[in-house]
Amino acid sequence: MARVKTFKPGGLHVETYRHLTPSSPWEHLPIPSVAVVSAVQYPGARAEWKVSLGQRVEEEQLLADGLRADDVSLHSPIPGIVEAFHEIQLASGERSQTVVIRLDGTFQKTGKPAQRREWTSLSPDQLIQIIGEQGVPLLASTLDQPFSFTSAASEVKTLVINAVQPEPYQTLGLHIVEEKFDEILEAVRILERAFAVSRTFFAADPEDPSAWQSRFVSRLAGMQVFLTEHKYPQAQRKILLKTLGLLTQPQGSLLVVEPGTLLAVYQAVVMDRAYIEKPVVVTGDAVVNPGVYRVRLGTPLAELIRAAGGMKSNALVVHGGPFRGHAVADLASPVMKSTQSVLVLDPRHRLESVELPCIHCGACANVCPVGIRPLHLYRALAQSDASDALNEGLNSCVQCGLCAFVCPSRIPLVETFAAAQGDSLA
Ligand code: SF4
Ligand code: SF4
Repeated sequence: MARVKTFKPGGLHVETYRHLTPSSPWEHLPIPSVAVVSAVQYPGARAEWKVSLGQRVEEEQLLADGLRADDVSLHSPIPGIVEAFHEIQLASGERSQTVVIRLDGTFQKTGKPAQRREWTSLSPDQLIQIIGEQGVPLLASTLDQPFSFTSAASEVKTLVINAVQPEPYQTLGLHIVEEKFDEILEAVRILERAFAVSRTFFAADPEDPSAWQSRFVSRLAGMQVFLTEHKYPQAQRKILLKTLGLLTQPQGSLLVVEPGTLLAVYQAVVMDRAYIEKPVVVTGDAVVNPGVYRVRLGTPLAELIRAAGGMKSNALVVHGGPFRGHAVADLASPVMKSTQSVLVLDPRHRLESVELPCIHCGACANVCPVGIRPLHLYRALAQSDASDALNEGLNSCVQCGLCAFVCPSRIPLVETFAAAQGDSLA
């Protein structure tokens, strides 16, 4: 049986809104006539273009190599012509170079009979090479940064499957486990072989724990299975590792992988497909048909929302969840490897942004999952007192956003902490 766990202190039990996206067949979006591929697929990631203006590219052709060892390569989601390079602003506010591919030519792989690769005879190095070449990122750090698995593969000892989805509206991981279980289980076995891990943890927070256990636990043989409460921010790597008792392990020894990445590993190794397509949850109270949509990377968010039946006028579109996501200013922004969900909310959900004086209610400190006193940290940063900010735990903040969410005075706590962490890490 799985063990049930949670974390202390702080956190918040939140309404999950999972009923908006119940299990149903995933819909395939039509192939986009234009794909806009961003060099930045994850915060801070960079890539160097390997194609030039006017060049014809095949489906899955390499478009860019990661600039550093821990950046991922990018492949063309469609066959076509390189029409332009231009810069856009991502929902996160980060600016990114993009390549624009206009659909042209024939598909080399889509619609063709797929041949299963027998991977069990491949060496660990060969498996890792395939995963990297097909552009699949493996995340292992305590923050959401792509991880250099090639440079640290030999250090990995523990594999952690993070299928916890406590943020409101986020259901992608649960859908993938429910509907693609065989594929992700095979991907787990691939990673176990590739990294020669000595133990595997599997954590999830299903809606109906007993039904989930009777359906899946016996098939997770050899893994340590944990169910967690629907408590935000349980899925944050640092919080999850703490809950599982793994926080004191050397960080390079832990490979933390989400179900979406497992699906991409399966596609890369077993189906010999580059990471050019992924499932994305489109949900919220202002979209007509919430659900899971399988979509090519580079598809504009506007097309994704249109495929989901469209949205109410003036709706608020958020890339990611309500706590850590970013409002989308331009619906021409493309689907990226980091896109898990697109939230389409009624305009009444827009938060009042007028900042008021602190009323010393203590709510921010009560919810902080790492024991920070957010108000004190904010004050230290407002006074540019770097040493006090470090003493108040600046580097422990996991940027979960809970303090800002509960603050009745709308003080920009998490934005300030994120900016300060960026400065101190630079
Ligand atoms: S954003 Fe940082 S300070 Fe605020 S609750 Fe989360 S961890 Fe604590
Ligand atoms: S939640 Fe906001 S108002 Fe309350 S103590 Fe924290 S910063 Fe002040």
